[in-house]
Amino acid sequence: MKKNITIAIDGTAASGKGTLAKKLAKKFNYAYLDTGKLYRASALIIKEKDINYKNLKEIIDFLKNYNFTNYDFNNYELKSDKIGKLASLISGYKELRELLLLFQRKFANKRHPKKLGVILDGRDIGTVVLPKANIKFFVTASLPVRAERRWKELISLGQSTIKRHVEKDLRDRDERDSKRKHSPLIVSPDAVLIDTTNLDADEVFLLAKNNVEEYLRY
Ligand code: C5P
Repeated sequence: MKKNITIAIDGTAASGKGTLAKKLAKKFNYAYLDTGKLYRASALIIKEKDINYKNLKEIIDFLKNYNFTNYDFNNYELKSDKIGKLASLISGYKELRELLLLFQRKFANKRHPKKLGVILDGRDIGTVVLPKANIKFFVTASLPVRAERRWKELISLGQSTIKRHVEKDLRDRDERDSKRKHSPLIVSPDAVLIDTTNLDADEVFLLAKNNVEEYLRY
């Protein structure tokens, strides 16, 4: 069995990449990092510290010494759409991306006892964070389908929200993520494209699992 496998999963917001990453990590016994949570945590931290998101200097001064290792990434507040939006607003800062890049690479390169590899998901994993990843996936779906999924997720979390607003928020976020100067959301030329518009989570998993098994065979 091949060891120390690295898998990069990128894609648009609410495309199902996180669900896929978790399922693959469980199936193949890989360590998993949801890098969106790092950007969301940064957003929540600056909000709690009352730092204006436009004040790059203050953001970096505060976060450069922040130890994310002990951060509670299960914090319920990270899931809110407000924090998602704030994360996307600050994710355009090169200096912030460089700080978070260190954490992501450290996670990818460190030994995870008993794990056979690592999976990172986000927007720039296959292009910037792990350009030499063994396997890369790019996951997307049509905007209405993603909006419907995210809306249902937010409702299930007890957050009252209007579907139309969710759709607009996703559209804006995709646009910001794709058009930013530093590490934009783009499809790595060597990524396997998965369009989840007409697929459920199990079908997406099966597709990706076959790809990983194919890689592990040779
Ligand atoms: O994936 P998630 O919705 O949790 O990510 C929140 C925001 O963090 C994204 O909209 C994006 O702006 C930013 N992000 C990023 N690069 C990553 C992961 C997330 O810019 N690798």
